[in-house]
Amino acid sequence: MDKHRRTFLKLLSALGLYSLWPIHPVVAEEKAAPKIIYINPGHGGGDEGAVPKNAKGAVDLTEAQANLGISLKLAELLRSRGYTVILSREDGGKAEGPPEDTNGDGRFTNRDGLQRVVDEANESKADLFISVHNNASSAKSAHGTEVYYCASRSFADKSKRLARLTLAHIVEELKKTGYESLNRGIKNDTVLYRNRGHLFVLGPSTGTSAWRRIVHPRETKMPGILGETLFVSNDTEAALLRRDDIRAAIARGYADAVDEYFQEA
Ligand SMILES: [Zn+2]
Repeated sequence: MDKHRRTFLKLLSALGLYSLWPIHPVVAEEKAAPKIIYINPGHGGGDEGAVPKNAKGAVDLTEAQANLGISLKLAELLRSRGYTVILSREDGGKAEGPPEDTNGDGRFTNRDGLQRVVDEANESKADLFISVHNNASSAKSAHGTEVYYCASRSFADKSKRLARLTLAHIVEELKKTGYESLNRGIKNDTVLYRNRGHLFVLGPSTGTSAWRRIVHPRETKMPGILGETLFVSNDTEAALLRRDDIRAAIARGYADAVDEYFQEA
């Protein structure tokens, strides 16, 4: 910008007429729009996910509660770091299930809720999709942390990178609290169904046809992961998941991964 033009701009600015100048040098300095993160606290609305019994045979923690607790902390943390966050539910009530036949298969199942989640994430134009779950096994000794992504999508490399970062950061944050979680690795979502299917919220659409009775007309359009943070079926890890500081540590793990993902991108 030459000296005269700068002087002229200063004058306009002083007169409060700056906006009259057709080319705003200020525009280039404006911050980029905040990244949008869609968080899906797994289950809810009557679907409690894994419901393990404690040592006394009673249920005092459900997976849905743990998922929500972590997700609310994660949302708060990401917002404080400048992200726009949308949650698929903010309390225990909003279902991933009926009452609408969202996927159009003529039935009311939890897949209607999952299709709603997918549709909402797409409508929100999210940059990333994060589904927060916790694991369970009939073997009480099973424990540790794993993160899923879908290798069958056009943005699989991005999802895989986010999965790697998320796993590393969660394990690291848990370690800082004194718990060395077993690193179970990142996994392609098809391993869950013995290579015969995908996680609904991460996998490709089946169109409007049924595949093994699963109708999945619309797919998520952004890189995404599903974290299985700890095992609610393991007594030690269930006790950890009840703790506020542990939930906060897990949320930090997810958030740090998001930060690093965009730093590298
Ligand atoms: Zn789950």
